[in-house]
Amino acid sequence: MRGFLIGRWQPFHKGHFSIIEEISKEVDELIIGIGSAQKSHTLNDPFTAGERIIMITKTLKKYNFPYYVIPINDIEFNAIWVSYVEALTPPFDVVYSGNPLVRELFMEKGYTVKKPKLYNRSEYSGREIRRRMLEGERWEHLVPEEVVEVIKEIDGVNRIRRLMESDYY
Ligand code: NAD
Repeated sequence: MRGFLIGRWQPFHKGHFSIIEEISKEVDELIIGIGSAQKSHTLNDPFTAGERIIMITKTLKKYNFPYYVIPINDIEFNAIWVSYVEALTPPFDVVYSGNPLVRELFMEKGYTVKKPKLYNRSEYSGREIRRRMLEGERWEHLVPEEVVEVIKEIDGVNRIRRLMESDYY
């Protein structure tokens, strides 16, 4: 059985990691979609698809679990999005998502859609982690240590802070 899980992973955090651990007990293989792959260098989507790929692959390296990471650009056409995803990925039997739009689109096409359990949603949240980065608060404990290394390597926190700078003076 092959599962499909898509996320923006901006950044990949411990909540994301926990759901992958759970899903790995239910499926033989997992396809991890890098959603909004075309986006980067904005306050909501600071990291590139490639940066998000290394966050995930470095974190999952120590686990002997078969998975495929596939970058998936957004399209302005929700009604055909599932067919578009199918055209880019290996076939899959079950979809995991807590995102209402993702769940709705796959359910309408007849997929079994499972909702992963939420882990510490108030802190394991991309938005909260990006806010902490911007405001100089502690964020490192909310992501796997491999993700801390990737964000340091690309100077990600300073990227977010530079993006916040105004061009008004
Ligand atoms: P996300 O990174 O916010 O979340 C990824 C998954 O992790 C989700 O299922 C979410 O419920 C889960 N999660 C987050 N925090 C968690 C926590 N603390 N504990 C447990 N689970 C947690 O990504 P997302 O917003 O779900 O990504 C969906 C992607 O699909 C986006 O890139 C979106 O643009 C794309 N999409 C595109 C189209 C289109 O192009 N037309 C349509 C639908 C969706």
